[in-house]
Amino acid sequence: MTKLAILEYPDPRLRTKAAPVTVFDAALKRQIADMLETMYAAPGIGLAATQVDWHYRLIVIDVSEDQKQPQVFINPQILERQGEAAGEEGCLSVPGIFDDVKRAQKIRARAQDADGRTHEFELDGMLAVCLQHEMDHLEGRLFVDYLSELKRQRIRKRLDKERRERDASRAAPRRQRTPEHVL
Ligand SMILES: [Zn+2]
Repeated sequence: MTKLAILEYPDPRLRTKAAPVTVFDAALKRQIADMLETMYAAPGIGLAATQVDWHYRLIVIDVSEDQKQPQVFINPQILERQGEAAGEEGCLSVPGIFDDVKRAQKIRARAQDADGRTHEFELDGMLAVCLQHEMDHLEGRLFVDYLSELKRQRIRKRLDKERRERDASRAAPRRQRTPEHVL
C-alpha cells in the first residue's frame, strides 16, 4: 500500500468533477487500499478520490471509534434527504480549519462496492454528514464554499502562511486536532 499526497485548498484540481467508476478490477482495489492508508495516516474519517488527484467517484469512510470499520462508496447517489443538522466540519484538504455546515440529518443513499455490487443505505449522524461532505468533493465542491467570501479569504491567507512556515521549517509539526471531524 502507498500513502498518497492529499491536495490542499485552493488547489484547482480539487474543483474537478469526478467521472463514474466503470471498471471494478484489481487496480480499483489497490486505489481503495491506498486511500484507506492515506486517510488513517492523516488522520481523518473520510477521503474522496478527488483529494488524492484521482478523479473517479470513489469515497472511503471510517467513523468507527477504533478505525477498523472501513466503508467504501463507489458511484454514490443520494436518494432521499431528511431533516437538517448543523455541525462543525473539517477537511483533510483544508487543514486546521473547522466551521459549521448545514447538512441533511438523515439520508438514504445508493452506492456500489469494490466488486461493483449495488447497495442501499440509511445513514444518519456522523456517517450521513461524512458521506455528504465526501460527495461534494466528487463534484469539485469544498465545505468552505458554504462559508462567506470573507471567511474563505481568511482561510486562504492562513493556509498560505502555514504552507510558507512549513516550507521554511520542514520539522515543524502541523497543527492538528483530534480526527473526529476531519473529513
Ligand atoms: Zn473533505
